[in-house]
Amino acid sequence: MAGNGPDAGPDAAGDVEELRAIVGQLRTNLEARGRSGLVGVVMATGKKTAAAPAATVAPAMVAAKASAAPAVSAPAPAEPAAAKPRTGQAGLQVLRDEIGDCQRCKLAPSRTNLVYGVGNPDADLVFVGEAPGADEDAQGEPFVGKAGQLLTKMIEAMGYSRADVYICNVLKCRPPGNRNPEPDEVASCEPFLKRQLAAIRPRMIVALGKFAAQCLLRDDTPITRMRGGFRSYEGIPLMPTLHPAYLLRDPSKKKLAWEDLKAVNAALAKVGIHPPRPPAA
Ligand code: URA
Repeated sequence: MAGNGPDAGPDAAGDVEELRAIVGQLRTNLEARGRSGLVGVVMATGKKTAAAPAATVAPAMVAAKASAAPAVSAPAPAEPAAAKPRTGQAGLQVLRDEIGDCQRCKLAPSRTNLVYGVGNPDADLVFVGEAPGADEDAQGEPFVGKAGQLLTKMIEAMGYSRADVYICNVLKCRPPGNRNPEPDEVASCEPFLKRQLAAIRPRMIVALGKFAAQCLLRDDTPITRMRGGFRSYEGIPLMPTLHPAYLLRDPSKKKLAWEDLKAVNAALAKVGIHPPRPPAA
């Protein structure tokens, strides 16, 4: 571009035209950005050739951005509401689907069935045991063997049926030979128990035996000392009591467990929850 002084000739007139065109293009560009809500323009500081493409390309780009993404200075759209965790049957099903054909711990290869849980997905009262035994592994349902039959009688003595309450275990797979659960197995399965309880939202939990009580309460006090006194699991009253398998080995302790279950009924009655049938005396 030639100078604009006294020596300016026909070239100078061309330069003025060119400058006018550049200014016009810049204006168009700025207007387009203004419409889209974009603010702040990166000015081309070098050769005019840098400005010309900006004027022709930018409006198209801005339009595309404007339709593809919210404008920078536009009010931020409201965050989508966080998905509410599902509860009841839906919550239990989501979790069951997530557990799937679980291979997360070393119990998976020897199990026949994963034993998830059974009963009322909206139960006020949940019983938590230790782990499936041989019968439970074979049938895929918790507490169906000898200890399970005793538990069923205890539940019925309280005035409930198995279908009224929810029954599950800390571990979902059977430890071989009914050995005790090992810490790594509890660590991989416990989150599922916690999520089951979060889905059911019971008003009371009965922890059957030391593994359930110690796992839910993070307390290694022996069950014989812990039983009979209400504790709290995440704000839910929890009664630790003796495991039915222990009661089968020492039936003289059944009356202690029955005292615990009567205390559970009494505590539920205080908040207006009564069993559907009259409990045994
Ligand atoms: N013992 C348990 O702790 N759970 C069962 O399901 C069966 C026996």
